[in-house]
Amino acid sequence: MNFGLTEEQRQFKEAAREFAERVIRPAVRHMEESNQFPWDIIRQMGELGFFGIEVPEEYGGVGADAISYTLVLEEISRVSPAVGVIMSVNTSLAVGGILQFGTEEQKRKYIPPLISGEVIGAYSLTEPQAGSDAASLLTTYRKEGDRYIINGRKIWCTNGPEARYIILYAVEDTKNPKRTMTAFIIDTTRKGFSVGKVEEKVGLRGAHSAELILEDYEAYPEEILGEEGKGYKIALTLLSSGRIGIASQSLGIAQGAFELALEHATTREQFGQPIANFEMIQYYISEMATRIDAARLLTYRAAWLKQMGLPYRKESSMAKLYASETANYVTDRTIQILASMGYSMEHDGQRYWRDGRVTTIYEGTSEIQRIVIAREILKEMGKI
Ligand SMILES: Cc1cc2nc3c(=O)[nH]c(=O)nc-3n(C[C@H](O)[C@H](O)[C@H](O)COP(=O)(O)OP(=O)(O)OC[C@H]3O[C@@H](n4cnc5c(N)ncnc54)[C@H](O)[C@@H]3O)c2cc1C
Repeated sequence: MNFGLTEEQRQFKEAAREFAERVIRPAVRHMEESNQFPWDIIRQMGELGFFGIEVPEEYGGVGADAISYTLVLEEISRVSPAVGVIMSVNTSLAVGGILQFGTEEQKRKYIPPLISGEVIGAYSLTEPQAGSDAASLLTTYRKEGDRYIINGRKIWCTNGPEARYIILYAVEDTKNPKRTMTAFIIDTTRKGFSVGKVEEKVGLRGAHSAELILEDYEAYPEEILGEEGKGYKIALTLLSSGRIGIASQSLGIAQGAFELALEHATTREQFGQPIANFEMIQYYISEMATRIDAARLLTYRAAWLKQMGLPYRKESSMAKLYASETANYVTDRTIQILASMGYSMEHDGQRYWRDGRVTTIYEGTSEIQRIVIAREILKEMGKI
């Protein structure tokens, strides 16, 4: 067993930290105030190869491993969880989906633009009645000659307003969704697609999640991802891999907040000494550090299993569950240590707290992760 990073992994981590500090940090306040999508940052990340870390060189990627991707996403999210989620959705779900399930033609057509930073991708499963119960879709398709006509309404699609290509799920028969669900690669410039309400969120300003409306949208057979009727399996498989991304984002959020808490604890004086001298503050520091470390180990292990080609569904859910709960714990304790300053909009503490809150919700809530973990254990035992 080796807990060290390879030279290549270390270089990715350093490059991402340098970029996040030099380019993203100075832009954070503007993103918070304007809520503008950070196209300039996204283009530069594309040029640096951050969206193509796991993509083979033949499709324009870097051809590195899943741990390198995890490290970069963690470093980006340590400074901006909003840029982190834009990256995670584009890379883990859109690019990752086409890489895993796409035909050779689809890979050559969609992956180079999606990793260049010139266009961005998204993943759209959720509907008003279909949250955790992802099979209960009402967005439908029907075949007409060589076309698939899609109608329906999606919600909460991250990168939805900006995306050029979206992996979107629809069913042929709402009474038989698991057998008829199909994943389509939607081209958002085509007739029949429009963006509806953009959600006013608690955090992650600059990243946008929106309603998508499909009215007689026409897709072609070559725009089906994987096989027709296999969409449910594709949706769940991609979420499994996406959860490593959200675990990495959560880890970055926890790390970023923890550093703020440490800085404050060692400089703020009360009763004639730094508050870090008080045992109760030390309890928080030790608890935060230990949970971050445990989350980091779980996340890197899930990424390692993925890059080794081994099963990782249980482990990615464990990583996502623990890292997201840790992000919530650490950002909450950070506010406690910062106290009144933590409750002020002028200090960055509240931003991590608001941005981190959603990590136990998207790509499967903590309750759903527990169901996945328990099911995988019972399956291993042959009990289900
Ligand atoms: C900021 C943001 C970005 C998002 N981005 C995307 C995106 O890009 N693409 C996309 O498709 N979706 C996206 N989503 C949607 C997200 O994946 C869903 O919100 C999530 O799956 C939960 O669904 P829900 O909100 O409808 O909650 P519900 O499913 O209604 O759950 C409500 C509560 O009930 C619990 N619950 C539900 N079922 C069970 C059960 N069987 N056992 C125990 N407890 C249960 C849940 O854990 C939760 O606590 C996003 C959401 C947010 C907030």
